[in-house]
Amino acid sequence: MKITPIINYSTFFKGGLRRPLTQYDYERAKKYCKEKGESEKPAKAKLEKLDEDKLNGIQKGIKVFEGLSMKDISEILRHGYLLLNRGCNNNCAHCGYSAAPYSIKTQDRMSWEDLCSLVEGIKELKTRMGSQIATPVWLNRALFIDSDCINVEIYDKKGNSYDYVDCVKKIAETNPRYTTQYDTSGWNPKNDEHQKRAEKLVNYMLSPNNKISQLYISLNPYHVIYAKAQSLKEQGEGKKAKKLEKKYYERMANVMFTLTPLVMPDKKINYRMGFLTRAIDSFQTDTTLDEDALKDIIKNVLNKLEKMYFKDLMGERKFVKSKKDIKDLMYIYKDLIEGCDSTTENILPLGRAQNLFIEPSSTLEKRKTEFLGELKKEKNKGHFALAINPDGSVVTFTQDVSAKTDISLNFEKKGEVKPLGSEIENFVYII
Ligand code: SF4
Repeated sequence: MKITPIINYSTFFKGGLRRPLTQYDYERAKKYCKEKGESEKPAKAKLEKLDEDKLNGIQKGIKVFEGLSMKDISEILRHGYLLLNRGCNNNCAHCGYSAAPYSIKTQDRMSWEDLCSLVEGIKELKTRMGSQIATPVWLNRALFIDSDCINVEIYDKKGNSYDYVDCVKKIAETNPRYTTQYDTSGWNPKNDEHQKRAEKLVNYMLSPNNKISQLYISLNPYHVIYAKAQSLKEQGEGKKAKKLEKKYYERMANVMFTLTPLVMPDKKINYRMGFLTRAIDSFQTDTTLDEDALKDIIKNVLNKLEKMYFKDLMGERKFVKSKKDIKDLMYIYKDLIEGCDSTTENILPLGRAQNLFIEPSSTLEKRKTEFLGELKKEKNKGHFALAINPDGSVVTFTQDVSAKTDISLNFEKKGEVKPLGSEIENFVYII
């Protein structure tokens, strides 16, 4: 008989009791919140410090939390990555999660209605618990693991689409202190929709109280366009390879040009911006996708960017009014890139990246075993890293390995969700 690959999450924790809730449970939980509220300073009573057995019942009737205990909900709110999109078309050679491109066969996107029902559910829960109880709700947590923020695009039933900024604004309704991160490997400059989306991001990040506190640009030889160019070179297709390399340089120079307002000198900013420059040392790889390739990319991208600024100066003057502006901006970008740590250690020999290393440090089987060990340690610390899939199902994960849990938000849109990295199957965790 096939064993269902489930970690029975609720049994790990005190308060993980799941049973139909009664009016008595609700009244009891309300009374407990009131008592806690009266004995604590505003927003000082932390959710995880409360007795979740006594709190169980406060969620009664909130549709999105149907079937979940308060311990489940507390863990999701404190530790869950909310994955708006699953999958990535960048196909990077170093992708630790081996992110697969979008597919119509799987549930790759959360629905807008489900996102809203989660946000409304959290708001309702907070109202019921009272303002004295602090619910952190994903503070500083990314809304992605194996996708690119520029590609986030979720739909409502009428077919309207919502991008990353729309989703961030929606989620921020749950907590005024909410902030998150934005990572991108760039977009095709000829894709009007993505270009407009990026310009919208810039405007949003310049607005007061925006909720994106960190923005990172991936710059490396592993993006499918550049990596493909290198394999064409090896096949003696030099001309085609050059064309693709140029395409990658233009793509990344356009990213930097578009984001110029965010790095303008003397700007008062409330976000951190940087580059994810990644490359494997040449002695650790027998491919040409190494630190020399990265240096070459940086040089060429900066050249293209400078040309874009000169073109701007000669024409529209969108961002630069003088040669000094160009000098200043180039200095800022060089400084930002140089300030990044691009050592091999930032690329783990996991997922697709294993193929890049001469000697991958550990096998998948070994990492799965390590993962189980980590679960035990995490349990002792009181939590696991959790990810909420677009269909509401929750997985626990580390590095490139994940395992299903039996927690699932009550979302309307269902479908097959691809595993996050390599899934541990046929596994029952018994404690
Ligand atoms: S490394 Fe990031 S950008 Fe590249 S394929 Fe993976 S998820 Fe996408």
